[in-house]
Amino acid sequence: MHWWSIVALAGVVALAAFVLLRTQWLRLRRERELLELYRSLKEISSSPDVKTVLTTVAAHAAQAIGAKDAVVMIRSGEDLRTFSGIDADVQPIANVLGRQAFEQEPPLPSVVVMRTGQPLLIDDVRDHAGPPGFQDACEAAGVRSVLCAPIRASSGVAGCLNLAFDRPNAFGPREERLATAYAEQAALGLERAIVYELEQEAMQKLQELDALRTDFVSAVSHEIHTPLTSICGFSELLTETWDELVDEDRQEFLGRIAAQAKQLAGLVDDLLDVGRLDAGAIGTAEPLHLRMLVRSVLELLNEELQRHRIHVDIPARTVVNANAAGCERILFNLLTNAAKYSPPGSLIAIRAVTADGEVTMSVCDEGIGIAADEQEKIFERFYRAQRGDAGPRGTGLGLPIAKRYAEAMGRRIWVTSEPGAGSTFSFTLELGDHVVEAAAV
Ligand code: ADP
Repeated sequence: MHWWSIVALAGVVALAAFVLLRTQWLRLRRERELLELYRSLKEISSSPDVKTVLTTVAAHAAQAIGAKDAVVMIRSGEDLRTFSGIDADVQPIANVLGRQAFEQEPPLPSVVVMRTGQPLLIDDVRDHAGPPGFQDACEAAGVRSVLCAPIRASSGVAGCLNLAFDRPNAFGPREERLATAYAEQAALGLERAIVYELEQEAMQKLQELDALRTDFVSAVSHEIHTPLTSICGFSELLTETWDELVDEDRQEFLGRIAAQAKQLAGLVDDLLDVGRLDAGAIGTAEPLHLRMLVRSVLELLNEELQRHRIHVDIPARTVVNANAAGCERILFNLLTNAAKYSPPGSLIAIRAVTADGEVTMSVCDEGIGIAADEQEKIFERFYRAQRGDAGPRGTGLGLPIAKRYAEAMGRRIWVTSEPGAGSTFSFTLELGDHVVEAAAV
C-alpha cells in the first residue's frame, strides 16, 4: 500500500470520526437543552407566584443559552417590573431602566418588543440607540449584546425576555429558537401565576370581609346590649319599687332610661343611614344659615357636651347650599366624637372659614388625637383606632357616615391630628348665594 493511500484512509477515518463526534455532540447539546427546558417547566409548575416563576425561567434560559444573564420585564402601569435570573448586578440596573419605561424615547428594547410583538436582536449595544442611560447601564453590567423575545400571553404581549451576553454578536438561530421557547414558557407560567395571585387576593378579601362582619356583629351587639340592659334594669326597678321610691329617684331612673333609649335610637339611625347612603339616597341641597344649623346640633347634643367648653366662631350671615340632614349628621357625628375622645373641661371649637366659593367647617378638640397611620383608616366602616378595651365605646360608623354624606354633596372631609394634643376634623360645603330670612339673625 502506498503511503498516500494510508494518508487518504487516515483522512477519511478522521473526517468520519469528526462527523460522528460532532453529531454526537449536537445530539448531547440538544438533549441538555431539552433537559434544561423540562427542568424549568417542572420548577415553574410548582411555583405559584409571579416572581418565582419569572426568575426561574430567566435563570434556566440564561443557563441553557449560555448568556451572562436573562431579565424578564413585564408591564406594571407606566413602569416595567423586572426579574433577573442569575447576576445580582443586573437586577438594580434593570430596575432603574424599567422606571417610566413607556414614556422614554427612544424606547427601551423591551418596550419595542412589547409594542411590535416581534423579537429584537441587538448585536452590539454600543451601536443601539436606547433611552438615555441605556448604554451606560449595559457598560456597567458588562453587557455587549442582547437578544429580546416577546412573552405572548392570551391577552397580548405581556412582557419581554432579555438575554444579555458579555460579547458582541453572541447569538444565532439556535439562541433565538431557545429564547422563543423560554419566552413561551414564561407566558404560560405568568398566566398561571396571575390567576393564582388573583385567587389569593379574592380569598384574602373574603377573609377580611368575614372578619369585618364578625367585628360588626360584636360591636353592634355590644352597643345594643349595654343600653338595653340598663333600660330593662331600671324599668324593672321602677315597676317593683314604684311606691317606695321618692319622686327624685323616680325621675332619675326615668332620665337614665331615656338617655339609654336615645343611645339606642342613635345606633339605629346610624345603621339606617348606612343603608340609605349605600342606596345613594340623599335629599336635595337648600340654602342653610350656618350659625342656626350649628345651634340646632348643639342643642341636640346638650347633654353630651355639657362637660366641655364650647367655642363657636362662624361669621354671621354665612349661608351654605347643602343638604340639611347631611350637614347636621356630619356635625353631629364630629361633635359626638370630639366629646367622646377628649377630656372633660377641654375646649371644643367649631369654626367656619369662607374661601373660593367654599365654606370649610372644622371641629377642633384637645383630646387624645389619632396616630398618622390611622388618620385615613378611621373613615373606613367599622374601623376603630387601636387603643385597647378601656377606650370609649363605639361601632366605627360615625366617620364613614360623615364621609359618605360629604361625598354625596360633592365635598370633602379630612382630619389633621397629633396624638396627645388633639384633632381637627374639617369638611367643605358649597357657599350659598341666597339670602335666607334667618340670615339676619
Ligand atoms: P366610633 O367613635 O363609634 O368608634 P367613628 O367612625 O366615629 O366610630 O370613629 C372611628 C374611630 O376614629 C374611633 O374609634 C376613634 O378611634 C377615632 N376618632 C374619631 N374621632 C376622634 C377624635 N375626635 N379624637 C380621637 N379619635 C377619634
